Amino acid sequence: MPADCRGVPRLDHDEGEEASIWGPATLAPRDTTARVSAPNGSLAVDSATLLAVTSDRELRRSIERIARLNLIDVIFASEPGHALSSAFLRRPDAVVVEYGPAGLEVARGLRGLLGTRLPCSFVADGGSFRARVDAAEAGGTLFLTRPLDPEVLTLAIRQMVASGEGAAHKGLVVGAADEPALRREMARRGLVVLHAGVEDCVEAFRSAAPDVVVLAASRDSRARDLCRAIRTSAEWQDVPIVVVGGAPHDRFDLLAAGADDVLLKGVSSRSVAALAGVRAQRARRLRERADAYALTGLMRRRSFLEALSRSLAACSRGARSLAVVLCDLDHFKEINDSYGHDSGDQVLAAFGRLLSKSFRAQDLRGRWGGEEFILAFPGETAESVARPVAAMFEELAHLSFVIGEKGPFSVTCSAGASTAPSDGASIDLLLKAADRRLYVAKRNGRARVVASG
Ligand code: GH3
Ligand code: MG
Ligand code: MG
Repeated sequence: MPADCRGVPRLDHDEGEEASIWGPATLAPRDTTARVSAPNGSLAVDSATLLAVTSDRELRRSIERIARLNLIDVIFASEPGHALSSAFLRRPDAVVVEYGPAGLEVARGLRGLLGTRLPCSFVADGGSFRARVDAAEAGGTLFLTRPLDPEVLTLAIRQMVASGEGAAHKGLVVGAADEPALRREMARRGLVVLHAGVEDCVEAFRSAAPDVVVLAASRDSRARDLCRAIRTSAEWQDVPIVVVGGAPHDRFDLLAAGADDVLLKGVSSRSVAALAGVRAQRARRLRERADAYALTGLMRRRSFLEALSRSLAACSRGARSLAVVLCDLDHFKEINDSYGHDSGDQVLAAFGRLLSKSFRAQDLRGRWGGEEFILAFPGETAESVARPVAAMFEELAHLSFVIGEKGPFSVTCSAGASTAPSDGASIDLLLKAADRRLYVAKRNGRARVVASG
């Protein structure tokens, strides 16, 4: 579900012994679900909620710490009844469940209550094949075993929570595989379906950056040639390719040319769409893992620039504007000096998460380097994003960091924003204008967004 249309109801029952709630970071009392929203509501933000069903103290502590760092609300429950009633009162975005008969019951109950798309991770002492199968059958999407590596748990929680926040997966259907039934089935699985002929598919790749390609096998060698062309280009070589309608004797040729799957003639649209969905999801996950800084979970500079270049080209084709915002945390060196480098890292992680859950799915967020971050908003201008970005900074400033014995302290951020095409049509000019305004924001007292001048 896109981040801008989720509504998280408040949890307004008493915090009981079984179901208790922790808000983002180490909190000064505040409304943890109040979020930024632009006057037109288009840049709204929701807080993510994790339901953790376990009475293991160590696991609870780890989850609590990860949730705080990543600005995720966590609801703890230790038995099925409470878990289900908490989920009923406030829909979780992801679940962590202790493996066992009670855990399996919870997972089944949650699936009945909230549907099959809820990411659900089991945590078990050992991982027999039977246990893994039982967990998957009950709706588990992940199976973690003790001893738990904190990095693995962090990544799992981040990915589970983010799976509801990112932009929808895009499936590019090439050639005659574009049947209405296939389109319908793909759309039903949440894929955005695009179509191209073999000749114009390079352009479609460039503009859409699909997460999966569904390619119709042909009698001539065009499907095979296209697989080769995709695999030999540096930027597309990891995109999954599903070939549909192949003949058995072409199968090895197509696989050797770069297809990931070759489905033989007569396969149902449902099966093709299911496979495309799974392939797209897995490829995106791998790419995000490779692209992201582990600490902040945001895109690295190079990945961001590639995504920005695509987004800018799409906006320019559609005669739409695009806003770029350069953010720089204020006096960050002093935070390192006063509270230690680890505390600085924790602030970076919290800010990364705040950015991840802010704004719309199509907006881009990256770590520019050090304590600098970069955002891009297709269809917006520096002026139109100044308010929501300032409101997000306000949210950051309200967080009260207590790290171990250190703190409490808070952090502010400054930003400079620019607009394409009025400040320039190239990335270089946009960055220069944003950087100049960021400098003005710093000089004029920090903790502000400068969008003009
Ligand atoms: P200003 O308000 O002018 O931006 O001041 P500042 O202190 O934030 O800026 P300055 O450029 O002087 O210092 C940035 C600091 O950020 C210095 C560097 O050690 C720290 N930093 C960069 N990357 C990391 C990181 O990954 N972790 C931590 N903890 N600190 C980092
Ligand atoms: Mg800096
Ligand atoms: Mg700084």
